[in-house]
Amino acid sequence: MRALVWLRRDLRLQDNPALSAALAGGLPVEAVFIYPTEQNAALAEGAAARWYLHHSLLALQRALAAVGIPLRLLRGRAEALLPSLCAERGIERLFWNRLIDPQQEDSDRRLTELLRRAGVSCQRFEDDCLVMPEEALKDDGSVYRVFTPFWRRLNDRLHGVIPAGRLSAVPRPVATALPFSTMEVEGLGLLPPHPWHKKLQAHWQPGEAAALERLTRFVEGDLAEYERQRDLPAADRTSRLSPALHFGELSAARVYTSVDQRLTHETDDKTLTSMRRFLAEIGWREFARHVLCAFPHTRLRSMNPRFDDPAAWEPDPGDEKLRAWQRGETGIALVDAGMRQLWQSGWMHNRVRMLVASFLTKNLGIHWREGARWFEQTLVDADRASNTLGWQWVAGCGTDAAPYFRIFNPDTQAAKFDPEGAYRSCWIGERPPLPPIDDLKTSRERALARYRSIVRESPKNR
Ligand SMILES: Cc1cc2nc3c(=O)[nH]c(=O)nc-3n(C[C@H](O)[C@H](O)[C@H](O)COP(=O)(O)OP(=O)(O)OC[C@H]3O[C@@H](n4cnc5c(N)ncnc54)[C@H](O)[C@@H]3O)c2cc1C
Repeated sequence: MRALVWLRRDLRLQDNPALSAALAGGLPVEAVFIYPTEQNAALAEGAAARWYLHHSLLALQRALAAVGIPLRLLRGRAEALLPSLCAERGIERLFWNRLIDPQQEDSDRRLTELLRRAGVSCQRFEDDCLVMPEEALKDDGSVYRVFTPFWRRLNDRLHGVIPAGRLSAVPRPVATALPFSTMEVEGLGLLPPHPWHKKLQAHWQPGEAAALERLTRFVEGDLAEYERQRDLPAADRTSRLSPALHFGELSAARVYTSVDQRLTHETDDKTLTSMRRFLAEIGWREFARHVLCAFPHTRLRSMNPRFDDPAAWEPDPGDEKLRAWQRGETGIALVDAGMRQLWQSGWMHNRVRMLVASFLTKNLGIHWREGARWFEQTLVDADRASNTLGWQWVAGCGTDAAPYFRIFNPDTQAAKFDPEGAYRSCWIGERPPLPPIDDLKTSRERALARYRSIVRESPKNR
């Protein structure tokens, strides 16, 4: 008889409630990771994130082998694979952590039923979010649609309270260390055939140990200046923890607690402001998950139904403009720098993400879904919930979104956030400037005219 831990986006040994519970049961423990074959599955990743996942799994397998836990890597549907694996390996108890994703919730329910019928006891633990969506509702039982009251309420509740059972050390070895080979991870076929992903190596070090080091370095260093520096893309002083949080190399509880614990002892006002601001960003990640869970349709459709009206978008923007945006060839320097940072490094600074998204959806009038799709393929931190919220926020069609009539002006943004041009020259280099693919003033007026037409036409105003 054995216990099995099913790992998904919790690729860590520390603070892993499912793993801790499996080990506490006294049975020999094995672990499994299953990558889906369907491209649309909740656990499927885009190309850049697959590169990150490949390396994160190598690190995970090595760390588990060192404490005597074998990690099996499979490809297919969990509902088809887990029952037969349990039967084959004599698994009596199965443990996993919950993911806050509506599609995943449905499949978890079906799987639990299947396994229970086969006599396997299943235990699922709360993870992924600091507070589960059903515990973070307004007093009247409805879902928060505005971030500020949502976060005020949650933060008050969490401050000073380490979520019970959520933090735990790396387990002590449970058996002798196992041999380790990279073959199994390679067999998953996560790396794209195009060698594009090789350049990502210079920018990222996947795996739990590297993520913990990054967290410690950030908390002891750049965090103090976060409020002042977070909007300056050239300074590059945000935490860059987004892929580690997406893949669960770090738990949200660990990141929150490591900053929250310092709040009580901190006396410097500037540092306190920075700490609170950083925690609020973790709050946005939380908010994005809760919103997607409550409104699953928003992954593909706008939260504000007015934006499902084709009149909200340019009737025929043409593929060329989209391609120029993707390649960083719009002729708008800050937009192009951002898109090249994305292509070269699998990541883009948040301030520039907002600008490139505003340029695509508002100036070019191209649907936010096209931009979200490109980000899904090219970001190492591509995350359904945060990406959907980010795009709809900028396009003005999401919950608590920027007003649709606010159109970022790239020149003003550059003067404010990249005054020396250091970010632009870092990603564009000395290349001669390209003529802009669209005029900023007329494209802005076109966008405003489109929005006026859908506001006028909306059922509310008829
Ligand atoms: C159009 C658009 C698309 C985006 N797509 C994604 C995405 O696919 N995946 C993703 O993780 N973030 C996304 N973001 C949010 C944000 O840009 C990144 O989380 C952030 O830039 C990651 O860098 P960091 O880890 O250094 O952030 P920090 O500033 O150090 O913040 C710490 C953590 O807080 C969370 N966070 C910060 N800002 C946000 C936010 N606005 N929404 C949700 N969580 C946030 C992230 O987990 C981040 O790692 C998107 C934003 C926009 C405008």
